Amino acid sequence: MKDNINTKLETYLQHAGMAQFNEDTGAAPVSIPAMRTSTVRFKNLEALDQVETLKNQGHRAVVYGRLGMETHGALEEIFCKLEAGTNACLAPSGMAAITLAMLSFLGNGDHALIADCVYGPVRRLDDSVLKRMGVSTTYCPATIESLSANLKENTKVLYVESPGSLLIEMLDLQKLANFAKENNLILITDNTWGNGFYEPLSLGVDVSVVAGTKYLAGHSDVMLGAIISKDEKIAAQIHETHYALGYAISAEDAWLSIRGARTMMLRLRQSAENGLKVANWLSEHSSIEKVYFPALPSDSGHELWKRDCKGSNGLLSFQLKTDNQGARRFVNALKIFGIGFSWGGFESLVQLVDLNTIKQHSYWNNSDNQVIRIYVGLEDASDLIDDLDQALKYI
Ligand SMILES: *Cc1c(COP(=O)(O)O)cnc(C)c1O
Repeated sequence: MKDNINTKLETYLQHAGMAQFNEDTGAAPVSIPAMRTSTVRFKNLEALDQVETLKNQGHRAVVYGRLGMETHGALEEIFCKLEAGTNACLAPSGMAAITLAMLSFLGNGDHALIADCVYGPVRRLDDSVLKRMGVSTTYCPATIESLSANLKENTKVLYVESPGSLLIEMLDLQKLANFAKENNLILITDNTWGNGFYEPLSLGVDVSVVAGTKYLAGHSDVMLGAIISKDEKIAAQIHETHYALGYAISAEDAWLSIRGARTMMLRLRQSAENGLKVANWLSEHSSIEKVYFPALPSDSGHELWKRDCKGSNGLLSFQLKTDNQGARRFVNALKIFGIGFSWGGFESLVQLVDLNTIKQHSYWNNSDNQVIRIYVGLEDASDLIDDLDQALKYI
């Protein structure tokens, strides 16, 4: 594809990260290779000076391998395109991206407001590293009322995730962005769920964090994170922290992620279509109390989802009309859904949600009945429904 053609996302993803033509032969492989290096070599000192100058002007000019060369650069651009941002930093996992986002804006004496629906391990970061650094946190429902009540003079960051982990509850990011602006807070959101069809930065969010481990890499074999922003000052602060912490990812992981990104939208669509079929089927089953999936018209986040999202995916939760023992029998009886914690790959997965964990989410209805989260992958939807059907007989 020639430069400067403005295309739709799917066209862009097929042409991103193409290798430059060799000037002598006029030929090139289709995609850039995984460019491994620690040392970057310069023809002479003037060439080094030129790169240093570009770097000081804020360009992506590389003098050492930690930042990565063209392979990493292409992946950063892909994240910018997916998230409607202008700056992206790569991290060795989604969790590392969350850590980087927090550490970029919080220091001794600061306070952070955190939505109580966020990805569970965020609480570990807060209880260990942030606490040791002298950063305090308050978890609360992501409503303006509750956030206002918990706002302190030293609050610097509002950290949220939309939709939330485990119960997939949609948040009103526009409202949260207005609240953050009014109170001088940096609003960070985890957009792992919506990467590719939900643009928090366009809704006023300052920083978007994505676990590329999920749909982008897409084949359950890469750990990857990214932090995306579009304000120059905010981006500079993230870049500085990224550099200081020494984050690096391997060229192979960047390469595999670019390869994953080419088919990401196709996989997302298939997984979302299967997910909706499964969600509809579950919502009519007599053993199911409630299905949590914003693409379902009956979901309380459906209107927000329609307003803000151009698509969906295959991650959903449901509440069984049974206790923990019945739910354990159900999970163990599944034959296609694998027991495992991730999602966004090709294969369907199931997770028995810990009731003590979910009690920390204000959206939870405090029932003793068990919640199951499933990831609906790329298998044939009727096989998945048959599998759920036979396993539900064991509750
Ligand atoms: C998986 C996940 C993460 C963490 O990503 P890793 O690459 O596994 O560290 C963060 N946020 C959400 C919403 C996730 O699902």
